[in-house]
Amino acid sequence: MPPPHPETWLRVTPEGLHCLPGGFTVDPVRPVERAVVTHGHADHARPGHRAVLATPETLAIMRARMGEGRAGESQQPIRPGEEVTHNGVRIRLAPAGHVLGSAQVCLEWKGSRVVVSGDYKRARDPTCAPFEPVPCDVFVTEATFGLPIFRHPPADGEVAKLLRSVALFPERTHVVGCYALGKCQRLIALLREAGWDRPIHLHGALMGLCRLYEELGVRLGDLRPATVAEKAALRGAIVLAPPSAVADRWARRLAEPVVAVASGWMRVRQRARLRGVELPLVISDHADWAELNRTVDEVGAPEVWVTHGRDDALIHAMAGRGIRGRALHLIGLGDDEEDAAPGGGGDAGEHAAAAEGATA
Ligand SMILES: [Zn+2]
Repeated sequence: MPPPHPETWLRVTPEGLHCLPGGFTVDPVRPVERAVVTHGHADHARPGHRAVLATPETLAIMRARMGEGRAGESQQPIRPGEEVTHNGVRIRLAPAGHVLGSAQVCLEWKGSRVVVSGDYKRARDPTCAPFEPVPCDVFVTEATFGLPIFRHPPADGEVAKLLRSVALFPERTHVVGCYALGKCQRLIALLREAGWDRPIHLHGALMGLCRLYEELGVRLGDLRPATVAEKAALRGAIVLAPPSAVADRWARRLAEPVVAVASGWMRVRQRARLRGVELPLVISDHADWAELNRTVDEVGAPEVWVTHGRDDALIHAMAGRGIRGRALHLIGLGDDEEDAAPGGGGDAGEHAAAAEGATA
């Protein structure tokens, strides 16, 4: 008997992508009996499930963000490469290169294999294991930056830009907006690689996850709280803060702040301008257009399902290469963290991008 088509055993339900024979849902947006969670961002990892299977790092991140009780009544850690079988469905996790602990969920049932990639990127990240392409029959991908204008430059070049500005304005405080899980720690690690060995100051909202990364073996160097009261001491310093704090009074109380934001959306110049960002840094933890297309080709799946983001352009491009694309329109993904287009909804961003054309 030929292997069953993935459409027959993997369905879109209001909870998310549900595996019928396995009885579990990947990244469910509502509380379920059994969840498999790709990574700790709040739009993928939600509270209130009974059983949660994920990497040990993702489970630790969930406990830190939600509290012990809400991060799943029972937690089952599996490491990349380990395999568990649930109701005849083989489950394996493979690194996704997105944030610490992020994993693709590889499912196999009766000889039919689906890989649900969650969020991923292909660019180097010193704080997590690199994405590993897994051949499959159906590849399930995001498309947050699924338009040809989205091309993320090498992150070390963006970090060099920040350090040049710090050298140029030694009296000013550089405050960089970045998301608490993943982006913040990657930025710190890249600064350390670039030779910045002075303390890095953190807004209170970023401290907890940095400490957790360190407990999980990611070294971040000398981190100190950014106390606005001691603004003189922060002259010439680099301060990291959540994007929301960068936009408000908190940042303006620093010494002549240079406002930077690290996000893939900084590619859209108009968006940076609207938010008063003086120094946009295009650093993303999501695949850009070229990475999405390269990944789809590498996994060799004849069929690709797109969970969220700019699915139409990607599906059109894949069709030209003989790959069948299908938009899943999963609800509830891309509402949080970097996916959430800062300063406006996704559509506004697309229009801004279209109006501007490809930015430099
Ligand atoms: Zn994510």
